[in-house]
Amino acid sequence: MKKRELLYEGKAKKVYATDDPELLIVSYKDDATAFNGKKRGTIEGKGAINNRMSNALMQRIEKEGIPTHYVRELNDRETLVRRVTIVPLEVIVRNVSAGSFAARYGVEEGIPFDEPTVEFSYKNDALNDPLIVSDHVLALRLASKETLDRIEAYARRIDEILRSFWEECGVILVDFKLEFGVTADGTLVLADEISPDTCRLWDAKTKEKLDKDRFRRDLGGIEEAYREIMRRLSEHDAA
Ligand code: C5P
Repeated sequence: MKKRELLYEGKAKKVYATDDPELLIVSYKDDATAFNGKKRGTIEGKGAINNRMSNALMQRIEKEGIPTHYVRELNDRETLVRRVTIVPLEVIVRNVSAGSFAARYGVEEGIPFDEPTVEFSYKNDALNDPLIVSDHVLALRLASKETLDRIEAYARRIDEILRSFWEECGVILVDFKLEFGVTADGTLVLADEISPDTCRLWDAKTKEKLDKDRFRRDLGGIEEAYREIMRRLSEHDAA
């Protein structure tokens, strides 16, 4: 598949056209940003890790019957994906208190929930991706009721799939963010990426953070954490 013009450059990825109008190439960068681009840096080797991890997890999800944009891994950093129109929502699933949840409600991090929570943020950098309730998604016509219901059902199922996978790797899936898109034929599919950039992943025994919080919070050992979480995934899949 030939890489054609650059269509979009985001904070962590570039997206290229191909000869097929329905297919795109995603290229993962080592660049890292946090706090809506206010903090910038580089995490050596991150692009390759996120590419491989996201592809492995998307294939697992696809096998469980949820369509994804994943088509084929092209090389270390690049993947062929289906072209979608992104639903402008960040879909966040939480199993344990952390991050903005802990801050908003004034609770400590690390409290496991009885049931997972699903919330939506409106993907809008100028507004700082505000939290949004379902009725407002409909009022703004960001998605239909049917699409929103399906997104929530998919998100809950993806949480079950990923939580049990990471448990087998000795890792707690604290929370994560998903994005969905619609293909030309109208299919709702999981898009974007699932990686240590978009998930909180804690070592089950030590509760050590093996994700982007090491970068956001200047905890050090960032590259090592990304390599360690990838090692756990690879060892699981090799077994
Ligand atoms: O910051 P907050 O606690 O709301 O983040 C919840 C989860 O969503 C975290 O796993 C974080 O990595 C992810 N997230 C993301 N992109 C954003 C906001 C949150 O991947 N723009």
